[in-house]
Formats: sequence, C-alpha cells, structure tokens
Amino acid sequence: MHIQDIFQASSPTFSFEFFPPKTAESSERLYQAIRDLAPLKPSFVSVTYGAGGSTRDLTHDLVVRTKLELDITTVPHLTCVCHSEGDIRAILDRYAEHGICNILALGGDPPRDLASYNKADDAFQHAADLVRFIKTFSGSGKHPDPKGRGFGIGVAGFPEGHPGTPNRMTEMDYLKAKVDAGADYICTQLFFDNHDFYDFRERCELVGVTVPIIAGIMPIVSAKGMKRMADLAAGSRYPAPLLRSIHRAGDDPEAIKRVGIHWATEQCRDLLDHHVAGIHFYTLNQSDATRQIFLNLGARDSASLRGG
Ligand SMILES: Cc1cc2nc3c(=O)[nH]c(=O)nc-3n(C[C@H](O)[C@H](O)[C@H](O)COP(=O)(O)OP(=O)(O)OC[C@H]3O[C@@H](n4cnc5c(N)ncnc54)[C@H](O)[C@@H]3O)c2cc1C
Repeated sequence: MHIQDIFQASSPTFSFEFFPPKTAESSERLYQAIRDLAPLKPSFVSVTYGAGGSTRDLTHDLVVRTKLELDITTVPHLTCVCHSEGDIRAILDRYAEHGICNILALGGDPPRDLASYNKADDAFQHAADLVRFIKTFSGSGKHPDPKGRGFGIGVAGFPEGHPGTPNRMTEMDYLKAKVDAGADYICTQLFFDNHDFYDFRERCELVGVTVPIIAGIMPIVSAKGMKRMADLAAGSRYPAPLLRSIHRAGDDPEAIKRVGIHWATEQCRDLLDHHVAGIHFYTLNQSDATRQIFLNLGARDSASLRGG
C-alpha cells in the first residue's frame, strides 16, 4: 500500500523496523519476531540497508519475503553510499517488479572500512538527490502503482540534530530540500525526550515542512544495547531521570529492561496525547518490548491503539 493511502486510511501509523539477519540462526529468530509482532497489525514494517550497501541482497530478500508471506506493507531502506546511478536503478527496478510501494531514501552510514571509501565517488551525494532520482524513476511509468504515483518516499529527520551539520538552521534547510524533492513523510531518529520531538515538529512547521512526521522510538532492553545505540545514533541524548533509573537497576538485566519499556511506554502515551502522525518502533529484531508497550497502553493491536 502506498504510504499516502496508509496515512489516509489509518492515522496515526504504527510501524516496526527490522535489520536483515546474517546467519541462519538469527534469521529464524527474526522471522519468529516478525510472526509474533504481526498480530499487532502494523501499518507497515521497514528493513534497514547495511552500511555502504553491505546488505543489498539480504535487504531485498527480507523485504520481498515479508510482503509475500505475511502480506504486510514492507518499506526497504535505500542509501546513497557506495552506489552508482546504475546500481540504484537496478534496485528500484527489482522493487517495482515485486510491487514494493515505498522506499525510505537515506544518505547512509559510511562503510566500516573507511580507508577505501570516497564519498565523491557516490552518484548521489545527499538523500535529497536520491529522492529526486526515485521521483524521476517513478515518472518513467515502470512502477505498478495504480494511481501512477510510483514509489512513496520517506526521509530521515533528526530531532536532536545530525552530527554532520551542527548548524541547526542549515540542517532544517537540508531537510526541507528532501521534502521539496518529493518525500511523502519523515521518520525520525530515535530520541528519549519528547520535547526534542515536539520542538523539531514545530521547527519543521516554521520552514514549511508539512508532511507527516513519524516518531522513532527505541525501548532500551539492555545496558549493552544502550551503549551500542549511543554509537550508532551518534549524539543520542539519554535524559538524567532515565539514566538514574537505569543506574538504580544496577546489574539486573530484567530491571533494566523494565525501566526501558516503562520509559518508552510513557513516551508513546505522551506522543499519542500530542497527536503524533505515527510511531516507528526500532525493534532490534525482538518482539517482547514492542508487544509489552502495546499491552501497557491497553491495546490489543494498532487499531485499538488508534482508537484510544
Ligand atoms: C529512520 C532512519 C533510518 C535509517 N536507516 C539507515 C539504514 O538502513 N542504513 C544506513 O546506512 N543508515 C541508516 N540511517 C542513518 C542515516 O543514513 C545517517 O544518519 C546519515 O548520516 C544521514 O542520513 P540522511 O538520510 O539524513 O542523509 P542526508 O539528508 O544526505 O544528510 C546527511 C548529512 O549531510 C547534510 N546535508 C544534507 N544535504 C546537504 C547539502 N546539500 N549540502 C551539504 N550537506 C548536506 C545533512 O544535514 C546531514 O548532516 C537511518 C537513519 C534514520 C533516522
């Protein structure tokens, strides 16, 4: 389903993010997590694209399998890093052939082996250029969308700012360029203080960005995961009250998980009270925390969460 139709049919949206598994064992765990989460009836799920395009085929396979086997709208992430125009066209061709309706268009994290990477070699320097290219591809009529819109397009937003652009005003100009190039929605980086999201939403409004903004939520489920996330989502700010509770939990993994789920539940409750356009759960390929948040909010599934 095209993302414009999803927003029209059922807002706020609730979506889950997965990353492609690397081993048979992690693959089985992932599909079990997806099966466990399916009864929550997500608006869509999304699948990440490894740094530097390292999961090109794995992402494709997971996207197509999830769509076919579970009949859930599945949004692949696609990045500029390490790709030529021909690479991107081939990927779009394959997704169009499989009836994939939407793409999350990103700049992308650089490959781990930085020494051999030269950004100047990328055909698209920024996500806005990729959005423009997807729009042109969509205009060529190769995509099967019955209304002729081609791919629905999402882009990333950063409520706490992006480390690559310390000037927060310039950053908003770049975000607006992505939306003006044709993005249908923004999905944000994870954040732990809702004030950052509300302020970001207002700043978007001030620069004339009016597309729906989906809030990215990641429940903390372990101390190790929390540290790792601080690396991946560089600049991530953990508010002191959250850290105090984590410290109180000490070495008890169950207690840390309870704190993380409680915090994320309260974030979601507050976002829903403030009419968020959607909530995107960074599941880390696990189902427990997301399912528990739905239960804590008194909801059986996305429809009942919407109704509250
Ligand atoms: C929801 C979400 C999902 C993600 N999924 C993935 C994934 O699957 N795979 C992955 O590798 N990474 C992923 N990322 C990480 C993301 O790719 C990186 O954070 C990347 O650095 C920024 O991506 P972007 O799409 O905002 O890029 P861009 O919009 O290209 O921005 C990158 C940097 O360049 C700056 N910039 C933008 N336009 C210009 C311009 N014209 N001139 C100069 N500077 C400019 C921006 O301000 C920013 O600092 C994800 C991030 C989010 C929030």
